[in-house]
Formats: sequence, structure tokens, C-alpha cells
Amino acid sequence: MSLAAMFTKSKGVHPPENKVTANKKIEKMPLPKVVYLPVAQHIGAPAKVIVKRGEEVKTGQVIAEAGGYVSAPIHATVSGKVSKITQGIHFVSGKPMDIVVIESDGNDEWVELDKKTNLSDMDNEEILKRIWDAGLVGMGGATFPTHVKLKPPKDKPIDTLIINGAECEPWITSDNRVMLEKGEKVLKGVRVMLKLIPAKKAIIAIEKNKPEAIAHMKKLVAKSRMKKVEVLGLPTQYPMGGEKTMTKEILDREVPILGLPLDIGVVVQNVSTCVAISEAVFDGKPMVERVMTVTGMVKKPKNLLVRFGTPVEDLIEHCGGMKDEADEIIFGGPMMGITQYTLDTPVQKGTNCVLIKKNTKADERNCIRCANCVNTCPMELMPTLYVAYAKKKMWEEAEAAFVDDCMECGSCAYACPASIPIVQYIKLAKAELGKIRRAKK
Ligand code: SF4
Ligand code: SF4
Repeated sequence: MSLAAMFTKSKGVHPPENKVTANKKIEKMPLPKVVYLPVAQHIGAPAKVIVKRGEEVKTGQVIAEAGGYVSAPIHATVSGKVSKITQGIHFVSGKPMDIVVIESDGNDEWVELDKKTNLSDMDNEEILKRIWDAGLVGMGGATFPTHVKLKPPKDKPIDTLIINGAECEPWITSDNRVMLEKGEKVLKGVRVMLKLIPAKKAIIAIEKNKPEAIAHMKKLVAKSRMKKVEVLGLPTQYPMGGEKTMTKEILDREVPILGLPLDIGVVVQNVSTCVAISEAVFDGKPMVERVMTVTGMVKKPKNLLVRFGTPVEDLIEHCGGMKDEADEIIFGGPMMGITQYTLDTPVQKGTNCVLIKKNTKADERNCIRCANCVNTCPMELMPTLYVAYAKKKMWEEAEAAFVDDCMECGSCAYACPASIPIVQYIKLAKAELGKIRRAKK
């Protein structure tokens, strides 16, 4: 058993936290001159473009409609002219998709927003429609459409909402700042969720390395007199913020293999998503921007409020530029983030961080069967097996060893002394299994 597992209910690792922006207040990023808006910024069907080249659009106008129930619309994030509708590659899946390019007119002229004051004036269907119409998806990185998550099937009763403020990835501090600076809106979002899902309690769960956020949220909860809501400090351990890790740590309930938290009576929602829920329901505001951290080897690391579609190059420039030794741009944190290959890559709904660093990856060596990867896996999996299976293209054996249950947290790769990129092998196995399953349909 790893040392970490002796103090927490799940295994994990303790990478250096590097939360150097924890005290940097949220700054509004200047409006970008051009935005690049991909139609697939969420899990589910890509949105369908409904604007044409040359068309004038306002900020908040729908430019792509949801492609199905498990999908979300995309809105213009600046006012201006659609200069191009082009094809690009999805920065996670590598699949081709449409990208709407808008040249800003600099005026940020918004569509009219339909505001509401009282939650009691709206029924649940209307609330869910406002959330869907606003294009909300989970902002913790998973990007699952929020309207779907907030309407669990009738045969899956929910007794607990977990509001995820763990922010366990190193370097990232955007959720910390959101709780400190937009805590009232977090609670307004929780109020909406408790109306949609009348759970017995809502637990705002925050890693203990954010004592100011814990104290602030406790104060706000006490002031709000929301009796079902409590604030809980979690042990600081990666990946404490994973949905399955949290349910185990907080409720001692295990999500079944290939299951979801709703299978054990839980819905988990990120704190930034709670703010977006509040803005969608009360302000009628579509999802056009988010708070994110730009950190690592930039001269002035910051927490920024950024319009979606802003190219990463603009962010780096706004943060004083990259340091000379930097040569890698990651969307997300160092554990689960994805390396980008172009400075044009735009900020999307799930982009909580841009991390600039020096690539220090060592060459892969042979497995020495030390079992570090097994001892750190929070899902109790056998990562070393997936490496062996992937190398031999034994996809069905990987499936039988529950590779689909891997949440790609990267703890195993972090702990591996042979520098084996275990998660890449796991992703390969999952992709190949996906192909096999599609061929069988
Ligand atoms: S096997 Fe998956 S869940 Fe387990 S540590 Fe590795 S990446 Fe995380
Ligand atoms: S941690 Fe690396 S070297 Fe050790 S058993 Fe796992 S894959 Fe092999």
C-alpha cells in the first residue's frame, strides 16, 4: 500500500503543487481581434453551423445549433463578421470538425438577454431549457452537457450533490479564484441544482490546500441559510477531484465498473459550472467566456476571464510572453493536459488552464515490474498490463482487464521510474476497442 493510501480512501500521488497564481485576482482579458470557434467543444454530437460566411453576428448569438440531445449549441463570443467557416482537427480527439471564424468589430454588441429574478417563477423544464440554450457544459474539463447531467433518469434517485472545488491538478488556480471572487454565484448555481434535483444535501468539496476558499465558502453558506449545503475540506492528493475519487472519499461509495456517479445516487458539478448555471438561469447569459489560469514559463502568470475562441498566442502575449527555455504548450494541467502544436489553438469551454513548460520527458525504458503504477492507481487497475497488451495489440485482453474504467488521471505514468507513457498506451487501447465495437454494430 502506498503511503498516500494509508490516509485517504483512494490511492494517488503528490506532485509539486506549483499553485503560483493562487493569489492572482481574475483579470479580464482584452477582446480578441479574431475568434476560432470549433463546433465540438463538448462530449456528444458536434453542433451544426447555422451562420454563413460574411454574416454579421452579435455576442451571444447562436452560430451552431446542438446536434442532438447530448450536445450543446455554440455562441458567437464577440460581435463582428463571420470571415470563414473552415475545417480543423479536434484538439483532443484528432477528428476533423467545422470551425467558425469571426472577426471582431471591437464593439462587443450583445444579443438581448432574457433576465429572470425569481427561481420560483420557472418550472424545471424552463430552467433546463435555459441551461441547454446557453450551451452549458461541465467546465472542470469533462465538458459533458449540463442539461443532461441535471436531468438524471427517474430510476436513478439522487441523494447527494457534490460541488467540485477540489482543483487537484498542479498549477491550476482558476476554480480557487472563482470561489473567492464569485462565491455568491456558485451558491446561486447550487440553489438552481437543488431545485432540479431535490437531493438531501449538497457538499462543496475543496482540497485543504485552499484554506481561504474553504473559509470564504463556509461564510457564504452560513449567510445564505441554505441548510442542505455544507463545505468540506478534502485531503490534498491527486486525483482527489476525479468524480469517482470524490464519491469514494466523501461518501465511501464506489462507482461501479463502467458506471457513473448517478448509479450510486450522486451528481457531481464543478464550481465554475455552478457560476455558468447561475448566469444562464438568472441573467439569460450564454456561455461565451470562462476563468482560466495561464501559468508556468510565462513572464507574468495570471488568472484570466477569456472569451472562447481566443487563440493561445494572445494569452501568452498578454502574460508577457514565454520564457526563452519554454518549448511546450499544454491545455490543462501537467497530469491530464494535452500538448498543443500550434499557437492558433483556441480556448474552448473545457480549457481551464494553459501551462507553458519545458519538455522534460525522458526516453521510455523497459518495465522493471516495480508495481508503482498499480500502487498509485485510484481505480485499482493494473496499468502495467495495459502497456503490455497495447504493445502486442491484445485489445480484447485490455478490455477484459477493465481498461475502459481508467480515468486517464496520469498517476501511474507519474509514478513510473521507467518513464513509460502509460496513459498513451491506455488511450490507444481505448481507441482500438472503440473501432472494434463500431465495426460490430
Ligand atoms: S490506470 Fe488510469 S486511472 Fe489508473 S492511475 Fe493510470 S491513468 Fe489513472
Ligand atoms: S511503474 Fe512503470 S516500471 Fe513499474 S511496473 Fe508500472 S509500468 Fe512497470
